[in-house]
Amino acid sequence: MQSTNDLSAASVTRKFDIIIVGAGFAGMYMLYKARELGLSALVLETAGGVGGTWFWNRYPGARCDVESMQYSYSFCEELQQEWQWSERYASQPEILKYANHVADKFDLRRDIRFNSRVSSAIFHEGERVWQLSTDDGEHYYAKWCVMATGCLSAAQRPNIPGLGTFKGEIYHTGNWPQQPVDLSGRKIGVIGTGSSGIQVVPELAKLAKHLYVFQRTPNFSIPARNQLMDSAYEAEWKQSYAERRTAARNMPAGILSDIGTNSALAVSPEDRLAEYERRWAAGGTGFTAAYSDLLKNEDANGTAAEFVRKKIREVVTDPAVANLLAPVDHPIRSKRICADTDYFATFNRQNVTLVDLRANPLQEVSEHGLTAGSQFYELDTFVLATGFDAITGALSKIDIVGRQALTLKEKWQDGPNTYLGLMTSGFPNLFIVTGPGSPSVLTNVIVAIEDNVNWIAGCLAYLITRDAQTIEAMASAEQGWMEHVGQAAEGTLYTKAKSWYLGVNVPGKPAVFMPYVGGVPAYQKICEEVAADSYRGFDTHANRDSVHSLQVVA
Ligand code: NAP
Repeated sequence: MQSTNDLSAASVTRKFDIIIVGAGFAGMYMLYKARELGLSALVLETAGGVGGTWFWNRYPGARCDVESMQYSYSFCEELQQEWQWSERYASQPEILKYANHVADKFDLRRDIRFNSRVSSAIFHEGERVWQLSTDDGEHYYAKWCVMATGCLSAAQRPNIPGLGTFKGEIYHTGNWPQQPVDLSGRKIGVIGTGSSGIQVVPELAKLAKHLYVFQRTPNFSIPARNQLMDSAYEAEWKQSYAERRTAARNMPAGILSDIGTNSALAVSPEDRLAEYERRWAAGGTGFTAAYSDLLKNEDANGTAAEFVRKKIREVVTDPAVANLLAPVDHPIRSKRICADTDYFATFNRQNVTLVDLRANPLQEVSEHGLTAGSQFYELDTFVLATGFDAITGALSKIDIVGRQALTLKEKWQDGPNTYLGLMTSGFPNLFIVTGPGSPSVLTNVIVAIEDNVNWIAGCLAYLITRDAQTIEAMASAEQGWMEHVGQAAEGTLYTKAKSWYLGVNVPGKPAVFMPYVGGVPAYQKICEEVAADSYRGFDTHANRDSVHSLQVVA
């Protein structure tokens, strides 16, 4: 750890009011808001460009499952009017183009240091300064630090015996090469059938000599029914964008959608079937918003789950394969629901084989392929669609040290604790965007990001006005909030699935349901009330020896 003397000797260019980690959608907007407050700000970013998760997830077929008209920033009317999405659901390249457009429009890059992976963040208690160090040995200092590190940004590689011995190529969907990858004519093995696997499989099937899909657990997926953007639809949105954004923020997921208010069990089977058919034909994840109790009542949920299983059996011609693809081990939407383009139909192709890892457990990878059960599969390429160390993974990759040398890893060893998902006690002046305990991944994440960043900016303005040197979540407020987060999840079917929401996909990670299921309006109301009540549950300290002065002195 750097000494106090070193700190004061650090050059002006390495001292900032605020350092933001990550230049994805959260980091870019945080930088914009920090500038509005007149703060000197630096963004440190591992990648060579902006976009965060959309920078890394370049796999064939990568596409958002929230409609483009809604999966975008709302903070600037000019931006939302000028940008034109070409499809109902934007592809990864188009979202990345949008992120770059935003960076250009607001001249963000001049305050972003790319190719700078933050390895540690240490709070110097005496000076009340955060020191951030990067892999290349640089050190930066700031009064405030914002972790805009993303919820789905730490790719999770499976621990498969022998994977390191494989002589062919290995790609992870969440860390796809930036150079084009030619997979035509290859024998490809995909491991993983979550949202990423379900998107990549149909694209790889078109290229591969043979595609083996190694499935441990099947997932529910709804046809996305992606299409070119309808200009009339786009115009409708743009005529009343602000009103629609407000209406979306009044929806639980922050997405303007058609949410059913009836119980699935209160309507006749004929009406229910007609409603499911209508939503299936419309496409997209809104399918599971058909009834109010699909996430609360197992019988209600079963009606939707069975409908989807029947659809899978209708599409997939081999009944044995269809059975394997039909999920039975978890309620629909208790894991993140997927949206696909021709996923199930892909298994009707001659060059695609589904390998059931439950019946034929994965034994080992060797130089030229993989053994599952007693069968060896010769492969040229592995595509690992094995997901993420979600929500906390990117934070745990950084050595974060708070007051009294407390590390975040130690503090969160039994599961993450935060107050509102925004701060964690023992770590003053450290904010988290879409942290554990916030709605984050259960919502349109751009709405979640904007709301969190707006709250942080409001909080910073409050602290500056009062010349408060530190703000820290109180342990009691944090405990109360986490109890509320846990209780909210217990009332739902979310806890019935072994999902990444609970962290059980990562060996050794404590099983704690991390996102807040209370929805955008309820969460936002609580955040606003806390702020209006002089940041209830946070300790703020005003001190004579201002940390700001470090910058002036140096
Ligand atoms: P995921 O949902 O966690 O799926 C990972 C898959 O890999 C699962 O099928 C899992 O099987 C399998 N797997 C992991 N380790 C394995 C092992 N050792 N052996 C065999 N199989 C293994 O990850 P993801 O598909 O990347 O999606 C994560 C989240 O990212 C999504 O839920 C979504 O929120 C987001 N996402 C969104 C989009 C979109 O907007 N359209 C696209 C991609 C991702 P088990 O289930 O048996 O563990």
